[in-house]
Amino acid sequence: MQIVRTVAEVRAAVRAARAAGHRVGFVPTMGALHDGHLSLVTLARDQGAAFVVVSVFVNPTQFGPNEDFAAYPRDLDGDADKLRSVRADVVFFPDVETIYPRGAETRVSLDALPKHLCGLDRPHHFGGVATVVTGLMNIVQPDLAVFGEKDFQQLQVIRRLVRDLHLPVEIVGAPIARETDGLAMSSRNAYLSPDERRRALALSKALAGAQAAADAGVRDPRQLEAAMRAVCEASGGQVDYAAVVDPDTLDPATSLPARALVAVRFGRTRLIDNAALS
Ligand code: AMP
Repeated sequence: MQIVRTVAEVRAAVRAARAAGHRVGFVPTMGALHDGHLSLVTLARDQGAAFVVVSVFVNPTQFGPNEDFAAYPRDLDGDADKLRSVRADVVFFPDVETIYPRGAETRVSLDALPKHLCGLDRPHHFGGVATVVTGLMNIVQPDLAVFGEKDFQQLQVIRRLVRDLHLPVEIVGAPIARETDGLAMSSRNAYLSPDERRRALALSKALAGAQAAADAGVRDPRQLEAAMRAVCEASGGQVDYAAVVDPDTLDPATSLPARALVAVRFGRTRLIDNAALS
């Protein structure tokens, strides 16, 4: 596994892989890797990418001024070991000046999708994501790129920007990897105290409860939202949203099937989770 830091090195590695006839897969991450991230590498291979590039870059432009950019967990050595175990081919570990050349002033933004859900509290977040992902795609130029459904709004933003800007890449959505008790894996779970970790189960419980209610005949999205909110509030977390939305537009759903999403804060840690509602 090669660890590279420059655009020229990534491009040389990708060029060699293509010359050898390989499809190139790409998995962008912010590091502090867990099994959820590693499942994306495996999925890229399962989807036919014989050569997989993983980027590890904590992107400053997707963090707000009072968010955890400086404190975000960083562990390149640990990440490299984990990526070796799933046979990633290249780890791209750029510094900020590599991704945003001095004087960079170009931004990629979307009009409507970022205004929903996480965008309400994080108004600049998805512009930062769209900008960095566009830059990374242009650096790596993969055939396919894998993103987790864990960040469902992000996945939809990326699908939209790839479509709108005609980026020549196939986007693959990966199922959410969970701990055995149901908590969605997240680098931010490391921030949770033991008590918060226990209470954080409310997110996956609320989503499972919504599906159970739908199965039992509750088809009104607003009623399902209220039930999810009640489960999350009972955990003592601060609920940012509990929403049932159209998966493509992220507008409030008017019927099922739909996507259910929750965001809850425990202390300073903000957790998100989501599920399809059939
Ligand atoms: P991050 O490092 O948090 O920016 O995540 C990098 C990629 O991993 C994104 O596409 C995430 O959606 C994905 N991801 C994070 N957590 C999980 C998870 N529990 N299951 C599946 N994918 C995940």
